[in-house]
Amino acid sequence: MGSPSLLPLEPASPAHICPLDQTCSYLDEAARELQLDAGLQAILSHPRKVVTVSIPIKLDNGTVQVLAGHRVQHCDVLGPYKGGTRYHPAVTLREVSALAMLMTWKCALLGIPYGGAKGGIAINPNDYSVSELERITRRYTNELIKDIGPSVDIPAPDVGTSAREMAWMMDTYSMNVGHAVPGVVTGKPISIGGSLGREMATGRGVMITVREALAAQGKSLAGARIVIQGFGNVGRSAAQLLYEAGARILAVSTSTNGLFADAGLDIPALLTYAAENHKSLVGFPGSTPISNDDLLLLPCDVLIPAALENQITEANVAQIKAQIIVEAANGPVTLAADQALEARGVTVFPDILANAGGVVVSYLEWVQGLSYVFWDEERVNREMESLMVHAFQRVLQQSQNRQVPLRLAAYTLAVGRVAQAVSDRGLYP
Ligand code: NAD
Repeated sequence: MGSPSLLPLEPASPAHICPLDQTCSYLDEAARELQLDAGLQAILSHPRKVVTVSIPIKLDNGTVQVLAGHRVQHCDVLGPYKGGTRYHPAVTLREVSALAMLMTWKCALLGIPYGGAKGGIAINPNDYSVSELERITRRYTNELIKDIGPSVDIPAPDVGTSAREMAWMMDTYSMNVGHAVPGVVTGKPISIGGSLGREMATGRGVMITVREALAAQGKSLAGARIVIQGFGNVGRSAAQLLYEAGARILAVSTSTNGLFADAGLDIPALLTYAAENHKSLVGFPGSTPISNDDLLLLPCDVLIPAALENQITEANVAQIKAQIIVEAANGPVTLAADQALEARGVTVFPDILANAGGVVVSYLEWVQGLSYVFWDEERVNREMESLMVHAFQRVLQQSQNRQVPLRLAAYTLAVGRVAQAVSDRGLYP
């Protein structure tokens, strides 16, 4: 397994499925398929830069807490680094490194001129007040000031962060350099240069992937039975757009509870209900509770894991009854589960394709910011859809041409593109 050896990584827990080992395995497989030069593969297996910073902050009660913040920059051969910022208790340097590498492949697959990066702080944002979160975000940004920038590395929201954190990051960066720099982050509020369509973009990309996946099997979205794990930014938007397109959303869940309705959930009513109940789904009329474990095992046309990594594993894969899995989260299916699903003929649309809608609209936001011309939402959605559908078709075609599963097809396209760029640029010095 080609796990990077140069990183100052915490040891992987033997019981834990390491996302970095998994991502490197997919790279190894693609490298074998492409018969990639070993030196080139070694370059692509390692992040270019790994930064860990201390974040001392004063809590509201006057005590001081010191947190660790990470930013991993995997590869910038095609353009500036790009990637989200995650606030979640399970954040580790291994996880951030894996997610940074995934971003490189995602951008290359979609044909957008970025390299991959990711950042994160191991906190539960619910444990902090808004003013504490602001101090954490500002200090983290300040510590990374020389490592980010509109032509260097452009953070975006991820699990546990949103447009609010991006506004704080943009302001902190701008105050440091002495003038407004909207292009330093994407996924920011519209008032400071955010793009229309960005908030729903990842969910919209998921909806497009589901639609195209069903169409490739001669089926339609109308009436399709869909199960969604995770009801955050991505899961919520996907549920809303799929519902609007006529799909039947059988179940959704958050980390604490899930809902099931065989006739399909009324998603607009559920969104209103959750907004009125502090994001809680508990007690939504016309539904029964379901655990996250059981939700994954429901019979359905399409299962959309939209929460975290490692949700479909060796432990539950034999009981999965979905016909198609669309990976809205990053790395929700483990390597072993992926192989078992492939053997059973379950089609898995990989994360680097299925959840790329967000980075595509981030790219469109950055382009609009650099050109000082802002588009209406219809144009943003149209441009995004065109890039998503094009990438989908290329992955399907590659899979058929090479007679390989969709994930390997997507990886060969992405890795091949980056490898070609490294090779064309040559090794410095
Ligand atoms: P979010 O924080 O807005 O929502 C996450 C959701 O998952 C919440 O509903 C949470 O309750 C739920 N959840 C957390 N732990 C869970 C668990 N153990 N079991 C079930 N549900 C759980 O995050 P998000 O932005 O929606 O991101 C979700 C996934 O999509 C992540 O893997 C992220 O990396 C990926 N992703 C997000 C974007 C984006 O634009 N936000 C883009 C690409 C990929």
